[in-house]
Amino acid sequence: MSYTDHIFAAYRQRLAALEQSPNPFARGIAWVGGDYVPVAEAKIPLLDQGFLHSDLTYDVPAIWNGRFFRLDDHLDRFEASLKKLRLQSPIPRHEIRDRLVEMAAKSGIRDAYVMMIVTRGLRYVRQYAPEDCQNFCYLMVTPYLWVMGEEVQKTGGSAIIARTVRRIPPGAMDPTVKNLQWGDFTRAIFEARDRGAMYPILTDGDANLTEGSGFNVVLVRDGRLYTPRRGVLEGVTRKSVLEVADGLGLPWVIDDIPVQMAYDADEILFVTTAGGVMPITTLDGQPVGDGQVGPISQALWKGYWDAHSDPDLSFAIAYD
Ligand SMILES: *Cc1c(COP(=O)(O)O)cnc(C)c1O
Repeated sequence: MSYTDHIFAAYRQRLAALEQSPNPFARGIAWVGGDYVPVAEAKIPLLDQGFLHSDLTYDVPAIWNGRFFRLDDHLDRFEASLKKLRLQSPIPRHEIRDRLVEMAAKSGIRDAYVMMIVTRGLRYVRQYAPEDCQNFCYLMVTPYLWVMGEEVQKTGGSAIIARTVRRIPPGAMDPTVKNLQWGDFTRAIFEARDRGAMYPILTDGDANLTEGSGFNVVLVRDGRLYTPRRGVLEGVTRKSVLEVADGLGLPWVIDDIPVQMAYDADEILFVTTAGGVMPITTLDGQPVGDGQVGPISQALWKGYWDAHSDPDLSFAIAYD
């Protein structure tokens, strides 16, 4: 039995049931302009500055086995991001929260990728003060999205350290604001593809690691976890994984992490809400450690998914 069978067997059954559902929202539901619509029919105005200038912030919590996971952590980060960008959601935090729960219940989706987006709206900051811009809020609940699929999680994925592009520096775009200015990540994804790998890790241009395209990076070396401090989004999954590490008695460090440490690591993990704990077993074409998904990766993986049923971290949705 593979370590992933621990949760995937039940997940696949729930997914099969969802795929049979006649509910028009079962493939995803969006809240746009005050209405609920199937996500495939949802439209945004062309003149929204979120589209024209990526002038927005967003956040992504998940629902697992019918339970919302760490929603308040995501809302906290979202509110902080809004403030930093001088955005204000047209609906208050509690309404975002209530609507997301309602949308999950309406859709019947038990394992969901959830997105909240606030954009500048139709007015451009070059012409209008931020307080004179009516910001827009978009919400959606769609079936869970895997940055790394089940089969790859069993063997571990392949990554590169990008050498044709660096992570945008914190003095340009604040990486602690979850944003969609993905020019650096897109270039790095192309480089990974060109070099025969699945995922990129970007550096800070000074020989330290930052993060990859939508995930934080955790290295394991001699039973200790290392994850970059600067130039990264402060991930909720990273926080969860470090809490699991505490429970396992594994020490961890958030600090500047030199690129060389990745080459010397025993195990490497990528962590994100959209995929959880993703083991990396090949780096720049070479095996990481012995090239297998390591014991610490497996223990963190299991601890992370088990945490989804912890009532201190999640709550059950009352489905229609
Ligand atoms: C969303 C995201 C992550 C992971 O954050 P989580 O809160 O764990 O989902 C990491 N890096 C970037 C750039 C992201 O956008």
